[in-house]
Amino acid sequence: MKIAFIGLGNMGGGMAANLVKAGHQVHAFDLAQAALDRAVANGCVPFANMRDAVADVDAVVSMLPNGAIVKAVYSGDVIGHAPTGALLLDCSTIDVASAREVTVLAQAGGYRMVDAPVSGGIAAANAGTLTFMVGGTEQDFAEAQPILAAMGKAVIHAGESGAGQAAKICNNMLLGASMVATCEAFKLAERLGLDLQTFYDISSKASGQCWSMTSYCPVPGVGPETPADHGYQGGFATALMLKDLKLAMAAAQDAGAPVPMGHRAEELYAAFDAAGNGGMDFSAIIKTL
Ligand code: NAD
Repeated sequence: MKIAFIGLGNMGGGMAANLVKAGHQVHAFDLAQAALDRAVANGCVPFANMRDAVADVDAVVSMLPNGAIVKAVYSGDVIGHAPTGALLLDCSTIDVASAREVTVLAQAGGYRMVDAPVSGGIAAANAGTLTFMVGGTEQDFAEAQPILAAMGKAVIHAGESGAGQAAKICNNMLLGASMVATCEAFKLAERLGLDLQTFYDISSKASGQCWSMTSYCPVPGVGPETPADHGYQGGFATALMLKDLKLAMAAAQDAGAPVPMGHRAEELYAAFDAAGNGGMDFSAIIKTL
């Protein structure tokens, strides 16, 4: 297939490389020359202009920073410029309302579109082991599935348009809150004189068990190797966790859903980010407790 890939940054760079490895011809477009150069090294065909990149493709995949950029890219340079009937897949993490809005615009222009945000970070994007949560019709999901499968280990249909973004922010709100709670539990265990490895051994097999503890333990030297063992570098940046928590808070407000734990997690991550820690892994929040 001929696929245009828009946004070849930390995540998109590896994802586009995996589409090339799967045998697709990938037309690359990014505003940053460095991103484009890396895409070329990975076998993509570079374009200096987005409209040319999408002109004769079967599908367009995007991995962009936020909803405003996704809306501008699709309404300005994709819709009306890619061949009608092309399948559009936005993999960025954006708000549910923008995802639905762009899909409506795309459908009015004669395109099919899915929102397909991912779980998994840069390492999973490079390794092709992302999890995709997909919003769209059954038929569009069926067509998107093989394209996404070339970049991931799981492709799950979440529901109609916007459902992929809804699943993503609900999952990450749970992750943010569970990480804070896991950190608190370790700090209290420490104050109460427990050995932290012993507490890990007990809690990871008891009812407090969760991914933040068992797979992503925030305490250095305890549990499996995690960013905590590398000075909280790499992993999932605090700034990105804060972005997802803000999206969750906005969605909760629109939906009239009370989310007190998510709200408190958002406050804590906002303060940690404002103190200059946006680039640290999100498990570093333990330093503030
Ligand atoms: P990034 O900033 O590294 O990459 C974004 C790319 O988009 C950049 O190369 C930038 O130049 C390009 N870009 C921006 N505006 C553009 C435009 N108008 N036209 C073309 N290119 C444009 O960000 P990232 O870490 O790759 O994240 C991308 C998306 O993936 C975000 O929505 C993020 O929330 C989501 N995400 C990231 C991670 C992660 O661990 N990094 C994990 C899951 C989801």
